[in-house]
Amino acid sequence: MRGKTPVIAMVAAGALGVAAGGWPVLRAQAGGTEAPLRGELSAVLADTTWPAPKPGSWTPPQPSPDGLPPVVRNIQTQDRVVFLTIDDGYTYDAEFVNLVRKERVPILTFLTSTYIKGNGQYFWALRNAGSKMENHTVSHPNMVTLPPEGQKRQICGASDEIAKQYGYRPQIFRPPFGSFNDTTRQVARDCGIKSFLMWNTEFYNGTSGPGVGFNGFARGDGSGKNFQPGDIVLMHYRKGLAEQFKTILGWIRQQGFRPAAVENYLPRALGGNAPDKPGKPA
Ligand SMILES: [Zn+2]
Repeated sequence: MRGKTPVIAMVAAGALGVAAGGWPVLRAQAGGTEAPLRGELSAVLADTTWPAPKPGSWTPPQPSPDGLPPVVRNIQTQDRVVFLTIDDGYTYDAEFVNLVRKERVPILTFLTSTYIKGNGQYFWALRNAGSKMENHTVSHPNMVTLPPEGQKRQICGASDEIAKQYGYRPQIFRPPFGSFNDTTRQVARDCGIKSFLMWNTEFYNGTSGPGVGFNGFARGDGSGKNFQPGDIVLMHYRKGLAEQFKTILGWIRQQGFRPAAVENYLPRALGGNAPDKPGKPA
């Protein structure tokens, strides 16, 4: 299913437009070709599926006892997988989309919805390359500085806009700057958010990180410069992303790791695709 998508996408790309509101529309075709075209596009627009981990190969994060969205910082697994997450969205890089498609790399986008206005088609392309669009607020404030109603507008507003544009209402939230309080978790739940996905490593792509320099990589706990199984890597949509992405893919492969889709390691109760009760190993 996944393997066919890029080819079909190329075939259909010439006929795929994106309406001002963001939904793709079929341009009128002469000669009554709409029906076959629609058939092709339904494959392009279908949700991409990524390989699921083997039952028992990881410890699924659990719901929080207080009933609010739990905060996930990495995934407990022995498999040599890492999870690439990319935040914000104020730059556009067509070469990056091509790379994600060609290399078939699972990524997860935390979209700041104000950037849909300029780059709506870009994120459509990435959505169709397999990246879900999850919630990173409307305008990227520090949530703890806002009263409850302001926080709620930021989270519900972004979810409303993303659902309208991309046909999927976010269930996973990442607070800007990693900053949140209990109010954030309460209002996020009210907006339909089921978990907060943080990170434990950062690739400072296109910028400099403290002590690691330009395009540096850092572990949050300072434990060396190598990947560890289950790392969640923070990156950003910045200028030069395609080249930066090649760089981190090179590091991942050199160390014998592979990128995997984090949503397949999160139970449905947390906004992912994994069963809520993991299957028993065969
Ligand atoms: Zn951000």
